[in-house]
Amino acid sequence: MTFHVYNSLTRSKAPFSTIEDGVVRMYNCGPTVYGRPHIGNYRSFLFADILRRWLEYLGYEVRQVMNITDVGHLTDDTEADSSGEDKVEARARAEKKDPFEITREYTAMFLEDMAALGVKEPMARPKATEYIDEMVEMVEALIEKGHAYRVGENVYFDVTSFPEYGRLSGNRVDDLEAGKRVEVNEEKRHPADFALWKSDAAHLMKWDTVFGADGFPGWHIECSAMAKALLGERVDIHTGGEDNVFPHHECEIAQSACANGVPLAEVWMHAKFLQVDGGKMSKSLGNVYTLPDVVGRGFEPRHLRFALVRGHYRTQINFTWAIMDEIRARLENLDEIAVLLHRILDGGAAAADGAGRETLTAAIDGFEAGMNDDLNMPVALAALEGLRKPLLDGTLGADVARDAMAWLERANSVLGFIETGAQSADAEVEALIEARTAAKAAKDWAAADAARDALTALGIEIQDTPEGVVWRRR
Ligand code: AMP
Ligand code: ZN
Repeated sequence: MTFHVYNSLTRSKAPFSTIEDGVVRMYNCGPTVYGRPHIGNYRSFLFADILRRWLEYLGYEVRQVMNITDVGHLTDDTEADSSGEDKVEARARAEKKDPFEITREYTAMFLEDMAALGVKEPMARPKATEYIDEMVEMVEALIEKGHAYRVGENVYFDVTSFPEYGRLSGNRVDDLEAGKRVEVNEEKRHPADFALWKSDAAHLMKWDTVFGADGFPGWHIECSAMAKALLGERVDIHTGGEDNVFPHHECEIAQSACANGVPLAEVWMHAKFLQVDGGKMSKSLGNVYTLPDVVGRGFEPRHLRFALVRGHYRTQINFTWAIMDEIRARLENLDEIAVLLHRILDGGAAAADGAGRETLTAAIDGFEAGMNDDLNMPVALAALEGLRKPLLDGTLGADVARDAMAWLERANSVLGFIETGAQSADAEVEALIEARTAAKAAKDWAAADAARDALTALGIEIQDTPEGVVWRRR
Protein backbone atom coordinates (compact mmCIF):
# COMPACT_ATOMS: atom_id res chain seq x y z
CA MET A 1 0.00 0.00 0.00
CA THR A 2 1.30 3.40 -0.87
CA PHE A 3 1.17 6.28 1.56
CA HIS A 4 -2.31 7.84 1.60
CA VAL A 5 -2.95 11.19 3.22
CA TYR A 6 -6.09 13.07 4.09
CA ASN A 7 -6.09 16.49 2.46
CA SER A 8 -8.13 19.12 4.34
CA LEU A 9 -8.49 21.06 1.11
CA THR A 10 -10.19 18.30 -0.88
CA ARG A 11 -11.67 16.68 2.23
CA SER A 12 -10.54 13.29 1.01
CA LYS A 13 -7.80 10.73 1.35
CA ALA A 14 -5.60 10.13 -1.68
CA PRO A 15 -2.25 8.53 -2.57
CA PHE A 16 0.62 10.85 -1.75
CA SER A 17 2.83 12.08 -4.58
CA THR A 18 5.46 14.80 -4.76
CA ILE A 19 6.14 17.70 -7.08
CA GLU A 20 9.77 16.65 -7.43
CA ASP A 21 10.65 12.96 -7.43
CA GLY A 22 11.90 11.73 -4.07
CA VAL A 23 11.77 15.15 -2.40
CA VAL A 24 9.11 16.46 -0.03
CA ARG A 25 8.86 20.17 0.66
CA MET A 26 6.97 20.65 3.89
CA TYR A 27 6.02 23.77 5.80
CA ASN A 28 4.78 23.52 9.40
CA CYS A 29 3.21 26.44 11.22
CA GLY A 30 5.26 26.89 14.36
CA PRO A 31 4.69 28.55 17.72
CA THR A 32 4.01 32.14 18.57
CA VAL A 33 6.74 32.71 21.12
CA TYR A 34 4.91 34.74 23.75
CA GLY A 35 4.93 31.99 26.38
CA ARG A 36 6.24 28.51 26.86
CA PRO A 37 4.29 26.29 24.41
CA HIS A 38 1.79 24.00 26.14
CA ILE A 39 1.30 20.30 25.57
CA GLY A 40 -1.49 21.02 23.06
CA ASN A 41 0.93 22.95 20.85
CA TYR A 42 3.27 19.99 21.02
CA ARG A 43 0.58 17.70 19.67
CA SER A 44 0.74 19.72 16.44
CA PHE A 45 4.53 19.87 16.35
CA LEU A 46 4.94 16.17 17.12
CA PHE A 47 2.44 15.31 14.42
CA ALA A 48 4.68 17.20 11.97
CA ASP A 49 7.74 15.36 13.31
CA ILE A 50 6.11 11.94 12.93
CA LEU A 51 5.01 12.85 9.41
CA ARG A 52 8.54 13.91 8.49
CA ARG A 53 10.02 10.73 9.98
CA TRP A 54 7.49 8.53 8.20
CA LEU A 55 8.34 10.20 4.89
CA GLU A 56 12.01 9.50 5.61
CA TYR A 57 11.20 5.86 6.46
CA LEU A 58 9.61 5.68 3.02
CA GLY A 59 12.84 6.99 1.51
CA TYR A 60 11.97 10.60 0.76
CA GLU A 61 14.33 13.48 1.34
CA VAL A 62 12.31 15.91 3.44
CA ARG A 63 12.95 19.64 3.27
CA GLN A 64 11.13 20.75 6.37
CA VAL A 65 10.56 24.31 7.52
CA MET A 66 8.89 25.24 10.80
CA ASN A 67 8.60 28.95 11.46
CA ILE A 68 8.73 30.92 14.67
CA THR A 69 6.09 33.64 14.90
CA ASP A 70 7.72 36.51 16.78
CA VAL A 71 5.59 39.44 15.61
CA GLY A 72 2.16 40.21 14.18
CA HIS A 73 0.03 37.49 15.80
CA LEU A 74 -2.73 39.45 17.49
CA THR A 75 -4.77 38.41 20.48
CA ASP A 76 -8.10 38.20 18.62
CA ASP A 77 -7.18 35.83 15.84
CA THR A 78 -10.34 33.91 15.05
CA GLU A 79 -11.47 36.38 12.37
CA ALA A 80 -9.60 36.73 9.07
CA ASP A 81 -8.63 40.23 9.99
CA SER A 82 -7.12 39.71 13.41
CA SER A 83 -7.39 42.50 15.92
CA GLY A 84 -6.33 43.33 19.43
CA GLU A 85 -2.84 43.54 20.80
CA ASP A 86 0.25 41.81 19.45
CA LYS A 87 0.57 38.67 21.61
CA VAL A 88 4.30 39.18 22.04
CA GLU A 89 3.96 42.84 22.94
CA ALA A 90 1.17 42.16 25.43
CA ARG A 91 3.50 39.73 27.17
CA ALA A 92 6.39 42.18 27.00
CA ARG A 93 4.28 44.81 28.73
CA ALA A 94 3.12 42.34 31.37
CA GLU A 95 6.67 41.22 32.10
CA LYS A 96 8.08 44.75 31.66
CA LYS A 97 10.60 43.49 29.12
CA ASP A 98 11.63 44.26 25.60
CA PRO A 99 9.56 42.22 23.09
CA PHE A 100 12.72 40.84 21.50
CA GLU A 101 13.83 39.62 24.91
CA ILE A 102 10.46 37.90 25.31
CA THR A 103 10.74 36.11 21.98
CA ARG A 104 14.35 35.13 22.66
CA GLU A 105 13.50 33.63 26.03
CA TYR A 106 10.45 31.70 24.88
CA THR A 107 12.13 30.54 21.69
CA ALA A 108 14.89 29.06 23.85
CA MET A 109 12.30 27.22 25.96
CA PHE A 110 10.53 25.99 22.85
CA LEU A 111 13.76 24.60 21.40
CA GLU A 112 14.66 23.01 24.72
CA ASP A 113 11.27 21.26 24.86
CA MET A 114 11.49 20.13 21.24
CA ALA A 115 14.91 18.59 21.86
CA ALA A 116 13.69 16.87 25.03
CA LEU A 117 10.70 15.50 23.11
CA GLY A 118 13.05 14.03 20.54
CA VAL A 119 11.89 16.20 17.65
CA LYS A 120 14.24 16.19 14.67
CA GLU A 121 15.65 19.52 13.64
CA PRO A 122 13.98 20.84 10.50
CA MET A 123 16.00 22.24 7.60
CA ALA A 124 15.14 25.76 8.78
CA ARG A 125 13.40 27.56 11.62
CA PRO A 126 12.78 31.02 10.18
CA LYS A 127 11.73 33.84 12.47
CA ALA A 128 9.13 36.20 11.03
CA THR A 129 11.14 39.29 12.03
CA GLU A 130 13.99 38.10 9.81
CA TYR A 131 11.83 37.96 6.66
CA ILE A 132 10.31 41.44 6.65
CA ASP A 133 11.78 42.31 3.22
CA GLU A 134 10.25 39.19 1.65
CA MET A 135 6.88 40.02 3.20
CA VAL A 136 6.96 43.59 1.92
CA GLU A 137 7.87 42.32 -1.52
CA MET A 138 4.93 39.92 -1.54
CA VAL A 139 2.52 42.62 -0.37
CA GLU A 140 3.75 44.92 -3.14
CA ALA A 141 3.21 42.16 -5.69
CA LEU A 142 -0.34 41.69 -4.44
CA ILE A 143 -1.06 45.42 -4.80
CA GLU A 144 0.42 45.45 -8.27
CA LYS A 145 -1.71 42.50 -9.36
CA GLY A 146 -4.88 44.09 -8.04
CA HIS A 147 -5.42 41.72 -5.11
CA ALA A 148 -4.57 44.22 -2.40
CA TYR A 149 -5.07 47.91 -1.76
CA ARG A 150 -3.55 50.56 0.43
CA VAL A 151 -5.45 52.78 2.79
CA GLY A 152 -2.98 55.21 4.26
CA GLU A 153 -0.21 53.10 5.72
CA ASN A 154 -2.28 49.93 5.93
CA VAL A 155 -2.61 47.32 3.21
CA TYR A 156 -5.58 44.96 2.89
CA PHE A 157 -6.16 41.82 0.86
CA ASP A 158 -9.26 42.08 -1.32
CA VAL A 159 -11.10 38.80 -0.72
CA THR A 160 -13.49 39.37 -3.61
CA SER A 161 -10.51 39.21 -5.99
CA PHE A 162 -9.97 35.52 -5.21
CA PRO A 163 -13.09 33.45 -5.96
CA GLU A 164 -11.65 30.40 -4.20
CA TYR A 165 -11.46 32.23 -0.87
CA GLY A 166 -13.25 30.03 1.65
CA ARG A 167 -12.58 26.70 -0.05
CA LEU A 168 -10.41 25.29 2.73
CA SER A 169 -12.59 26.29 5.65
CA GLY A 170 -15.99 26.21 3.99
CA ASN A 171 -16.56 29.85 4.96
CA ARG A 172 -18.16 31.89 2.22
CA VAL A 173 -17.32 35.54 1.82
CA ASP A 174 -21.02 36.41 1.72
CA ASP A 175 -21.68 34.53 4.94
CA LEU A 176 -18.79 36.27 6.63
CA GLU A 177 -20.45 39.54 5.73
CA ALA A 178 -24.04 38.52 6.46
CA GLY A 179 -23.13 36.98 9.81
CA LYS A 180 -21.60 40.31 10.82
CA ARG A 181 -19.01 38.38 12.73
CA VAL A 182 -16.55 40.74 11.21
CA GLU A 183 -15.91 43.97 13.00
CA VAL A 184 -16.81 47.02 10.94
CA ASN A 185 -13.73 48.80 9.73
CA GLU A 186 -14.59 51.77 7.55
CA GLU A 187 -11.26 51.57 5.76
CA LYS A 188 -11.98 48.25 4.16
CA ARG A 189 -13.80 47.69 0.91
CA HIS A 190 -15.27 44.44 2.15
CA PRO A 191 -15.70 43.47 5.81
CA ALA A 192 -13.90 40.15 5.20
CA ASP A 193 -10.79 41.80 3.74
CA PHE A 194 -7.80 41.25 5.99
CA ALA A 195 -4.67 43.23 6.74
CA LEU A 196 -1.42 42.27 5.04
CA TRP A 197 0.45 45.16 6.55
CA LYS A 198 -0.54 47.31 9.51
CA SER A 199 0.71 50.60 10.82
CA ASP A 200 0.63 51.71 14.39
CA ALA A 201 2.97 54.24 15.96
CA ALA A 202 2.45 52.62 19.37
CA HIS A 203 3.57 49.20 18.16
CA LEU A 204 6.95 48.29 19.68
CA MET A 205 8.23 46.07 16.87
CA LYS A 206 7.88 48.12 13.72
CA TRP A 207 9.63 48.68 10.42
CA ASP A 208 10.15 51.64 8.14
CA THR A 209 9.10 50.45 4.67
CA VAL A 210 7.52 51.71 1.46
CA PHE A 211 4.18 51.64 3.28
CA GLY A 212 5.25 53.98 6.07
CA ALA A 213 7.48 54.36 9.08
CA ASP A 214 5.60 52.35 11.73
CA GLY A 215 4.51 49.16 10.09
CA PHE A 216 4.40 45.49 10.94
CA PRO A 217 3.22 42.43 9.02
CA GLY A 218 -0.09 40.61 9.33
CA TRP A 219 0.34 37.12 10.79
CA HIS A 220 -0.86 35.32 7.62
CA ILE A 221 1.54 36.99 5.17
CA GLU A 222 4.45 35.89 7.33
CA CYS A 223 3.99 32.20 6.56
CA SER A 224 3.29 32.82 2.86
CA ALA A 225 6.55 34.78 2.57
CA MET A 226 8.71 32.42 4.64
CA ALA A 227 7.45 29.35 2.80
CA LYS A 228 8.30 30.98 -0.52
CA ALA A 229 11.72 32.20 0.62
CA LEU A 230 12.83 28.82 1.88
CA LEU A 231 10.90 26.23 -0.12
CA GLY A 232 9.79 28.00 -3.27
CA GLU A 233 6.37 28.89 -4.63
CA ARG A 234 4.94 25.40 -4.25
CA VAL A 235 5.21 22.99 -1.35
CA ASP A 236 3.98 19.41 -1.09
CA ILE A 237 2.60 19.57 2.42
CA HIS A 238 1.53 22.37 4.73
CA THR A 239 0.54 21.53 8.30
CA GLY A 240 -0.89 23.13 11.40
CA GLY A 241 -3.41 22.59 14.18
CA GLU A 242 -7.11 22.56 13.36
CA ASP A 243 -7.56 26.18 14.48
CA ASN A 244 -5.16 27.23 11.71
CA VAL A 245 -7.67 26.24 9.01
CA PHE A 246 -9.44 29.55 9.38
CA PRO A 247 -8.38 32.22 9.17
CA HIS A 248 -4.63 31.53 8.99
CA HIS A 249 -4.38 28.95 6.23
CA GLU A 250 -7.36 30.24 4.29
CA CYS A 251 -5.59 33.58 4.05
CA GLU A 252 -2.21 32.03 3.25
CA ILE A 253 -3.79 30.13 0.35
CA ALA A 254 -5.29 33.33 -1.06
CA GLN A 255 -2.16 35.47 -0.70
CA SER A 256 0.25 32.92 -2.12
CA ALA A 257 -1.93 31.90 -5.04
CA CYS A 258 -2.53 35.52 -6.00
CA ALA A 259 1.09 36.62 -5.59
CA ASN A 260 2.73 33.59 -7.20
CA GLY A 261 0.09 32.46 -9.69
CA VAL A 262 0.32 28.87 -8.43
CA PRO A 263 -1.27 27.12 -5.44
CA LEU A 264 0.91 27.14 -2.32
CA ALA A 265 0.46 23.56 -1.10
CA GLU A 266 -0.69 20.33 -2.68
CA VAL A 267 -1.79 18.83 0.61
CA TRP A 268 -3.03 20.59 3.76
CA MET A 269 -2.94 18.54 6.95
CA HIS A 270 -4.33 19.55 10.34
CA ALA A 271 -3.97 17.99 13.76
CA LYS A 272 -7.01 17.96 15.99
CA PHE A 273 -6.75 19.72 19.31
CA LEU A 274 -5.53 17.93 22.36
CA GLN A 275 -8.06 17.97 25.16
CA VAL A 276 -7.13 18.07 28.81
CA ASP A 277 -9.41 16.54 31.45
CA GLY A 278 -11.94 15.97 28.69
CA GLY A 279 -12.23 19.60 27.63
CA LYS A 280 -10.43 22.67 26.48
CA MET A 281 -7.31 23.57 28.39
CA SER A 282 -7.86 26.73 30.34
CA LYS A 283 -5.97 28.96 32.69
CA SER A 284 -8.97 29.17 35.02
CA LEU A 285 -8.99 25.37 35.40
CA GLY A 286 -5.23 25.44 35.93
CA ASN A 287 -4.67 22.72 33.35
CA VAL A 288 -2.62 24.48 30.70
CA TYR A 289 0.32 22.14 31.13
CA THR A 290 3.84 22.51 29.80
CA LEU A 291 6.56 19.90 29.42
CA PRO A 292 8.22 20.95 32.72
CA ASP A 293 4.84 20.40 34.46
CA VAL A 294 4.75 16.86 33.09
CA VAL A 295 8.37 16.17 34.06
CA GLY A 296 7.65 17.65 37.49
CA ARG A 297 5.08 14.88 37.97
CA GLY A 298 7.76 12.25 37.49
CA PHE A 299 7.32 11.48 33.80
CA GLU A 300 10.02 11.45 31.15
CA PRO A 301 9.64 13.63 28.06
CA ARG A 302 9.32 10.47 25.98
CA HIS A 303 6.21 9.52 27.96
CA LEU A 304 4.66 12.78 26.79
CA ARG A 305 5.86 12.18 23.25
CA PHE A 306 4.11 8.80 23.30
CA ALA A 307 0.98 10.26 24.88
CA LEU A 308 0.70 12.98 22.23
CA VAL A 309 1.28 10.81 19.17
CA ARG A 310 -0.50 7.63 20.26
CA GLY A 311 -3.84 8.60 18.72
CA HIS A 312 -4.62 9.25 15.11
CA TYR A 313 -3.78 12.91 14.50
CA ARG A 314 -7.28 13.65 13.18
CA THR A 315 -9.08 12.26 16.19
CA GLN A 316 -9.50 13.89 19.52
CA ILE A 317 -7.22 12.68 22.25
CA ASN A 318 -7.42 13.44 25.91
CA PHE A 319 -4.72 14.12 28.48
CA THR A 320 -5.11 13.35 32.17
CA TRP A 321 -2.60 12.26 34.80
CA ALA A 322 -4.32 8.86 35.00
CA ILE A 323 -3.79 8.45 31.25
CA MET A 324 -0.13 9.32 31.76
CA ASP A 325 0.17 6.45 34.25
CA GLU A 326 -1.29 4.09 31.64
CA ILE A 327 1.11 5.50 29.07
CA ARG A 328 4.05 4.76 31.32
CA ALA A 329 2.99 1.14 31.73
CA ARG A 330 2.32 0.75 28.03
CA LEU A 331 5.69 2.18 27.14
CA GLU A 332 7.39 -0.22 29.56
CA ASN A 333 5.83 -3.05 27.58
CA LEU A 334 7.20 -1.60 24.35
CA ASP A 335 10.64 -1.22 25.93
CA GLU A 336 10.39 -4.82 27.04
CA ILE A 337 10.21 -5.95 23.43
CA ALA A 338 13.71 -4.52 22.97
CA VAL A 339 14.93 -6.05 26.23
CA LEU A 340 13.67 -9.50 25.25
CA LEU A 341 15.21 -9.23 21.80
CA HIS A 342 18.55 -8.20 23.26
CA ARG A 343 18.43 -11.16 25.59
CA ILE A 344 18.19 -13.51 22.63
CA LEU A 345 20.91 -11.65 20.72
CA ASP A 346 23.15 -11.88 23.77
CA GLY A 347 22.93 -15.68 23.58
CA GLY A 348 19.79 -16.30 25.62
CA ALA A 349 17.31 -19.06 24.89
CA ALA A 350 15.61 -18.93 21.50
CA ALA A 351 13.39 -21.13 19.37
CA ALA A 352 14.76 -22.89 16.29
CA ASP A 353 16.11 -20.71 13.51
CA GLY A 354 13.34 -19.40 11.32
CA ALA A 355 10.69 -19.79 14.00
CA GLY A 356 8.29 -16.87 14.23
CA ARG A 357 9.19 -15.42 10.84
CA GLU A 358 5.51 -14.92 9.93
CA THR A 359 4.93 -13.20 13.26
CA LEU A 360 7.62 -10.64 12.48
CA THR A 361 6.39 -10.14 8.92
CA ALA A 362 2.86 -9.58 10.20
CA ALA A 363 4.10 -6.98 12.69
CA ILE A 364 6.06 -5.11 10.03
CA ASP A 365 3.21 -5.25 7.51
CA GLY A 366 0.68 -4.14 10.10
CA PHE A 367 2.85 -1.25 11.22
CA GLU A 368 3.50 -0.06 7.69
CA ALA A 369 -0.12 -0.46 6.63
CA GLY A 370 -1.22 1.62 9.61
CA MET A 371 1.28 4.40 8.99
CA ASN A 372 0.55 4.38 5.26
CA ASP A 373 -3.12 4.86 6.01
CA ASP A 374 -2.85 8.58 6.80
CA LEU A 375 -0.55 7.93 9.78
CA ASN A 376 -2.98 5.67 11.59
CA MET A 377 -0.86 5.34 14.69
CA PRO A 378 -3.24 3.16 16.77
CA VAL A 379 -3.15 0.48 14.05
CA ALA A 380 0.62 0.77 13.66
CA LEU A 381 1.24 0.56 17.40
CA ALA A 382 -1.03 -2.43 17.85
CA ALA A 383 0.98 -4.30 15.20
CA LEU A 384 4.23 -3.48 16.96
CA GLU A 385 2.86 -4.40 20.37
CA GLY A 386 1.92 -7.78 18.89
CA LEU A 387 5.60 -8.76 19.04
CA ARG A 388 5.68 -8.85 22.81
CA LYS A 389 3.67 -11.99 23.45
CA PRO A 390 5.61 -14.27 21.07
CA LEU A 391 8.79 -12.99 22.71
CA LEU A 392 7.48 -13.72 26.20
CA ASP A 393 6.43 -17.16 24.95
CA GLY A 394 9.89 -17.72 23.52
CA THR A 395 8.64 -18.59 20.02
CA LEU A 396 11.14 -16.54 17.96
CA GLY A 397 14.32 -17.98 16.49
CA ALA A 398 17.63 -16.14 17.02
CA ASP A 399 17.88 -15.16 13.34
CA VAL A 400 14.34 -13.78 13.39
CA ALA A 401 15.13 -11.92 16.60
CA ARG A 402 18.11 -10.29 14.91
CA ASP A 403 15.91 -9.08 12.04
CA ALA A 404 13.25 -8.00 14.51
CA MET A 405 15.79 -5.90 16.42
CA ALA A 406 16.99 -4.21 13.24
CA TRP A 407 13.42 -3.43 12.25
CA LEU A 408 12.48 -2.23 15.74
CA GLU A 409 15.27 0.35 15.46
CA ARG A 410 13.78 1.43 12.13
CA ALA A 411 10.26 1.65 13.51
CA ASN A 412 11.64 3.66 16.41
CA SER A 413 13.35 6.02 13.99
CA VAL A 414 9.75 7.09 13.32
CA LEU A 415 8.26 6.75 16.80
CA GLY A 416 11.23 7.99 18.79
CA PHE A 417 9.93 7.01 22.22
CA ILE A 418 11.07 3.40 22.70
CA GLU A 419 14.19 2.63 24.73
CA THR A 420 15.79 0.23 22.26
CA GLY A 421 19.26 0.27 23.84
CA ALA A 422 18.14 -2.45 26.20
CA GLN A 423 21.75 -3.06 27.28
CA SER A 424 21.80 0.22 29.12
CA ALA A 425 18.42 -0.49 30.68
CA ASP A 426 19.85 -3.75 32.01
CA ALA A 427 22.94 -1.96 33.26
CA GLU A 428 20.73 0.42 35.24
CA VAL A 429 18.96 -2.52 36.86
CA GLU A 430 22.24 -4.25 37.71
CA ALA A 431 23.58 -1.05 39.26
CA LEU A 432 20.51 -0.68 41.47
CA ILE A 433 20.74 -4.30 42.56
CA GLU A 434 24.40 -3.82 43.48
CA ALA A 435 23.53 -0.65 45.38
CA ARG A 436 20.86 -2.54 47.32
CA THR A 437 23.19 -5.44 48.11
CA ALA A 438 25.88 -3.03 49.33
CA ALA A 439 23.34 -1.11 51.42
CA LYS A 440 22.09 -4.34 53.02
CA ALA A 441 25.64 -5.39 53.84
CA ALA A 442 26.14 -2.02 55.50
CA LYS A 443 22.80 -2.46 57.31
CA ASP A 444 21.60 0.78 55.69
CA TRP A 445 17.97 -0.39 55.42
CA ALA A 446 16.66 2.96 54.18
CA ALA A 447 19.09 2.95 51.24
CA ALA A 448 18.28 -0.69 50.52
CA ASP A 449 14.56 0.10 50.46
CA ALA A 450 15.16 3.12 48.22
CA ALA A 451 17.03 0.96 45.72
CA ARG A 452 14.23 -1.60 45.80
CA ASP A 453 11.62 1.15 45.24
CA ALA A 454 13.60 2.44 42.29
CA LEU A 455 13.65 -1.07 40.83
CA THR A 456 9.91 -1.42 41.37
CA ALA A 457 9.41 1.89 39.60
CA LEU A 458 11.32 0.47 36.64
CA GLY A 459 8.99 -2.52 36.65
CA ILE A 460 11.62 -4.89 38.03
CA GLU A 461 10.80 -7.71 40.44
CA ILE A 462 13.66 -9.10 42.50
CA GLN A 463 14.05 -12.26 44.49
CA ASP A 464 16.76 -13.05 46.99
CA THR A 465 18.06 -16.60 46.42
CA PRO A 466 21.04 -18.49 47.86
CA GLU A 467 22.81 -17.84 44.54
CA GLY A 468 22.25 -14.10 44.81
CA VAL A 469 19.58 -11.74 43.49
CA VAL A 470 17.47 -12.83 40.54
CA TRP A 471 15.43 -10.22 38.71
CA ARG A 472 12.80 -10.08 36.03
CA ARG A 473 10.64 -7.50 34.36
CA ARG A 474 6.99 -7.52 35.33
P1 AMP B 1 0.33 29.30 18.40
O1 AMP B 1 1.54 29.32 19.29
O2 AMP B 1 -0.90 29.76 19.06
O3 AMP B 1 0.60 30.01 17.09
O4 AMP B 1 0.06 27.77 18.07
C1 AMP B 1 1.05 26.93 17.60
C2 AMP B 1 0.44 25.66 17.05
O5 AMP B 1 -0.18 24.89 18.06
C3 AMP B 1 -0.64 25.91 15.99
O6 AMP B 1 -0.40 25.06 14.89
C4 AMP B 1 -1.93 25.54 16.70
O7 AMP B 1 -2.88 25.07 15.80
C5 AMP B 1 -1.46 24.44 17.64
N1 AMP B 1 -2.31 24.22 18.82
C6 AMP B 1 -2.74 25.14 19.72
N2 AMP B 1 -3.48 24.55 20.70
C7 AMP B 1 -3.51 23.22 20.42
C8 AMP B 1 -4.12 22.06 21.04
N3 AMP B 1 -4.83 22.14 22.16
N4 AMP B 1 -3.92 20.87 20.43
C9 AMP B 1 -3.21 20.76 19.29
N5 AMP B 1 -2.63 21.79 18.67
C10 AMP B 1 -2.76 23.02 19.21
ZN1 ZN C 1 1.59 29.84 9.81
